[in-house]
Amino acid sequence: MSQNPEPVYDRIREEVAVRAERLWDVGLALHRSPETAFEEREAARLLTGELEREGFEVERGVAGLPTAFTGRTGSGDGPCVALLLEYDALPLLGHACGHNLIAAAGLGAALAVRGALGEVPGSLLAVGAPAEERGGGKVVEVEAGLFDGVDAALMFHPGVYSWSWAPLTASAQIRVAFHGRAAHPTGNPTEGIDALGALIQLFNTLGVLDRRLPAGSHVQGIITDGGRATNIVPEYAEGLFGLRGATTAALEDLVEEVRSCAQGVATATRTRVEVTGVGGRYEHFRDNEVLSGLFAHHLDRAGIPLSEPEPGVYLGSSDIGNVSTRVPAVHPFVAIMGSDASDHTPEFAEAAAGPRGRRVMLAAAEALACTAADVLLRPEVPEEAWACLREKAAAGL
Ligand SMILES: [Zn+2]
Ligand SMILES: [Zn+2]
Repeated sequence: MSQNPEPVYDRIREEVAVRAERLWDVGLALHRSPETAFEEREAARLLTGELEREGFEVERGVAGLPTAFTGRTGSGDGPCVALLLEYDALPLLGHACGHNLIAAAGLGAALAVRGALGEVPGSLLAVGAPAEERGGGKVVEVEAGLFDGVDAALMFHPGVYSWSWAPLTASAQIRVAFHGRAAHPTGNPTEGIDALGALIQLFNTLGVLDRRLPAGSHVQGIITDGGRATNIVPEYAEGLFGLRGATTAALEDLVEEVRSCAQGVATATRTRVEVTGVGGRYEHFRDNEVLSGLFAHHLDRAGIPLSEPEPGVYLGSSDIGNVSTRVPAVHPFVAIMGSDASDHTPEFAEAAAGPRGRRVMLAAAEALACTAADVLLRPEVPEEAWACLREKAAAGL
């Protein structure tokens, strides 16, 4: 039976309000000591300490990642909600992606839900997800089964737009290596097979391919090895290619296209080609409209309206994609700067420690907590969220 959640929302508001200073201190502490991917030792120590202090059962080093963690509470009997905390920073730029605000809001939401509900019916999980910027901690956590049994994975991301969901593409990297034959370019030119020439040909071929790719699909390449000396025909050349697709299926198609282009070039140039995947694959973000609608509704009450993303605009890729294709998930953007600004800049880092950042973090904590309460207290919510995920999966979205 569904409970009337209004009194719970009121209690959540109070629970966030009494912790506002502390949550902001956590956000600022992370901001002052930025740690990059997989190095987030102080961040993990600080956040797990805060969770333990309020009675969460903490497990450190989950999924084989030293700076990942979970904090768990609840009766275990019922739905399971995961609040996702990111806390890695960017090299040289510090918290220019505002992950300090994601961590503070996720922590605030977890503490507020527990505070408001007392005994949590079901399970409430705070998931420390390291290395979003490089390496993809959530990809590893998904593969380790950390999200098995989760009914809702909730987080927000600060940005320059206020959008109810994140248009994030699927992405992968591949390395293409051409093998030719070394020779003296004037002494023995007919013996040489130019591997660099083949690689350059591949770039030209991909330029032609690019024109017929569907919206959201994209290839960006760099040359990582182009030979050693101008008096040797290069026997080896290597390029690294970043591939993106609006959906994971579109990305898979693109990988196959690039592979067959490389093969075609190898045949034409009498080289041999090797194509290998590099690093983990990020899947596209599958928004769960049931949950993102609830989040938007709650945030609106704090005076921050969210809109749909601008059609055709993609904001990169993230490891939340791999979570979102498996369990109902939200990843809204909430603006801490105007849309003429950009994340991954010194100005954005400054905003992540500024008054608007603070306001957004606290509003997001409250809206995340209210959405979590909806999942825990209203049985129709997780049911509808799963139906939404299954429907989109069947449609390949
Ligand atoms: Zn970023
Ligand atoms: Zn980010």
